[in-house]
Amino acid sequence: MSGITLALSKGRIFDETLPLLKAAGIVALDNPEISRKLVIATNRADVRIIIVRASDVPTYVQYGAADLGITGKDVLDEHGGAGLYQPLDLNIARCRMVVAVPVGFDYASAVRQGARLRVATKYQQTASEHFAAKGVHVDLVKLYGSMELAPLTGLADAIVDLVSTGNTLKANNLQAVEEIAPISARLIVNQAALKLKREVIRPLIDALEKAVSHG
Ligand code: AMP
Repeated sequence: MSGITLALSKGRIFDETLPLLKAAGIVALDNPEISRKLVIATNRADVRIIIVRASDVPTYVQYGAADLGITGKDVLDEHGGAGLYQPLDLNIARCRMVVAVPVGFDYASAVRQGARLRVATKYQQTASEHFAAKGVHVDLVKLYGSMELAPLTGLADAIVDLVSTGNTLKANNLQAVEEIAPISARLIVNQAALKLKREVIRPLIDALEKAVSHG
């Protein structure tokens, strides 16, 4: 197939990608929130969009089931990035990966005293690299969502999670005590597809790059 497939996830990534695609001359012909379609045609016969779960985007692109994808750096760091070319920071879906604890918990002195902290997170790779680099011993508890609940129920002392406005932390009496990394969405490309379909993919990367720098 000479056409290309772009993997996106519903919600923030899809919504914030549409204007960039439009600036690159690509318009989705369906809204996945309404149509429930998982394969979406565009105004270009050679470009289609598939809708996958956010954490599955790198996998689809790694195996070439999609030629390109757009995914958060948080997801990419957990995946590891094998087989993926990462040409562009799209500067959308921005937030921060942080360590957060209950208000009043003295994180700094717990770390200083070498306390072994229990940390709940969906981002095990990111968390273990962060604490290993600091030389802090932690026990990680894997969760799939609502990390904020873990310290409130005694499941963990701290969490590693994404924060955007900070409203969710605040509403649950938590505070960020360490920033691990700024996060934004990245364009990822299957390395073999880039070689085989260069004449379609390269101009698209260039057009998206232009859209990002003009946005
Ligand atoms: P906020 O209350 O605005 O700080 O948002 C925090 C909640 O939204 C947390 O549950 C985060 O996991 C989630 N969140 C914030 N930003 C993002 C993002 N860019 N991608 C995915 N989840 C996010």
